[in-house]
Amino acid sequence: MTAKNMQDIQDKHKSPGAGGAKVVQIQNFIDGKYVPAASGATFETINPATGVVHGLVAHGTADDIDAAASVANKAYEEGPWAHMAYSERAAVVARIGDLILKNREKLALAETTDTGKPISESFDGDIVRSAQNFHFFSQFASTFAEEAYSTAENERHVAVREPVGVCGLITPWNLPLYLATWKIAPALMMGNSIVLKPAEWTPYTASLLGEIVKEAGLPDGVYNVVNGFGAKEAGEALTRHPLVRSISFTGETSTGKAIMAAASGTLKKVSFELGGKGANIIFADADLAEAIPTALRAAFRNQGQICLAGSRLFVERAIYDQVVEKMVDLCKSIKVGDPTKSDTQMGALISVEHMEKVMSYLALGKKEGQLHCGGERLTELGAGNFLSPAIFTGLGIKSRFLQEEIFGPALPILPFDSEEEAIAMANDSPYGLSASIWTADINRVHRLSRKIKAGMIWVNTWFARDLRTPFGGQKSSGIGREGGRYSLEFFSEAKTISYKYKGQ
Ligand code: NAD
Repeated sequence: MTAKNMQDIQDKHKSPGAGGAKVVQIQNFIDGKYVPAASGATFETINPATGVVHGLVAHGTADDIDAAASVANKAYEEGPWAHMAYSERAAVVARIGDLILKNREKLALAETTDTGKPISESFDGDIVRSAQNFHFFSQFASTFAEEAYSTAENERHVAVREPVGVCGLITPWNLPLYLATWKIAPALMMGNSIVLKPAEWTPYTASLLGEIVKEAGLPDGVYNVVNGFGAKEAGEALTRHPLVRSISFTGETSTGKAIMAAASGTLKKVSFELGGKGANIIFADADLAEAIPTALRAAFRNQGQICLAGSRLFVERAIYDQVVEKMVDLCKSIKVGDPTKSDTQMGALISVEHMEKVMSYLALGKKEGQLHCGGERLTELGAGNFLSPAIFTGLGIKSRFLQEEIFGPALPILPFDSEEEAIAMANDSPYGLSASIWTADINRVHRLSRKIKAGMIWVNTWFARDLRTPFGGQKSSGIGREGGRYSLEFFSEAKTISYKYKGQ
């Protein structure tokens, strides 16, 4: 964290959460106004690091989705946004980015209170990146070319891109504002209206974004947020609503399947960013001084709750013992604890339910393999969902521990003897989101990066991103790509206009 510690931020913003401060009302945001759920019902949101309720959230249902979709559709049909000059839209979108940075402390505090992640990650990571999403798309959209062809018969064929209309966005809890804005920014730049259903565990920052978009000058009705749950509730209602023309979803693979089925009734276009089980492959010729600490970060950043995590570590046998020993040493030094402290490296898991799920995998790992460190609930840290980061060896590639997405701080390390074996192990997964390769051999880089089935391959690095490049996964990790023109294509409809002309 580059700036202050959390205490300074909390004192300044008098925000809820740690320290027993007040409970906030987190309402829906519809037509430019904060409103309660149509039923008046609320649900509690809990600070994962303290177990204390810090918010009462509007419990939106199908009625609220209907209200938001109707308002969004009206804004799309009648309002200025969809037809505004590109430069005017870009100015508003860039201003949203500016205001996110202006409110960086408040948003970082809200994100850490909702998620339990270290304040350093919220403040320097998630919130900065959320602003960047708006700044990037406000500029990049100007490079999104339309096509035009002329024929000998004096015909001209122009392919233009138009807004889709009302876009439904459904987002997860692990990087709440970061991933929501990754969808909101391109959807806005293409002139759409939005109904966002944030994860029920982390509603706070999407709600705060309401006042920010309003201050930035976004017309009412273009950005709407309905809080609530998924299956049979607000999330599902959004996927079935006839006025909603597309669904952009990030979350679990099983949820993606349910959404695909529900959205088929109204034939919506869908984009899915789903689960992952990234392979991290270290060859004996790698720069271990870089590879080992990065492998540690790739496994445990955000408490291991990252779709792009390097959650399966494969190490060439010649350096296997050495790498395991160093990884275990470093893992023991990770500072787990109060996420409001600026020197905390690992905070709390999102919920008791999720922590218990991760603990069931820890039990499996202890039964089938050898635990080298961690793997315990840290009750001495209080009522929060704290686990010590765990490293296992001796597990088989077919173990559920390696095949299923644990989404927590639990890393298996396996040895390999040949390049072919490393490729086979990397591909032995239902997922295909990302992989990392650590080696000094450029020819090997070429061979592996073409043979590993994943949407993103890092070489001698992890988590590096250029927002222009495609982001997304193969196999059970998703459908479609986000980033640069891929996002702009998804959030627009192509239309061909063919006309005959006279003269030159
Ligand atoms: P989740 O699928 O449980 O929930 C995500 C969202 O979907 C929530 O808003 C939830 O309310 C909603 N939802 C649930 N059921 C629904 C239904 N039937 N219809 C409509 N909406 C529904 O996922 P999560 O637990 O919040 O997030 C963790 C998952 O997200 C992990 O699998 C992780 O890998 C994945 N993820 C993927 C990426 C990526 O870019 N590929 C990024 C982050 C997270």
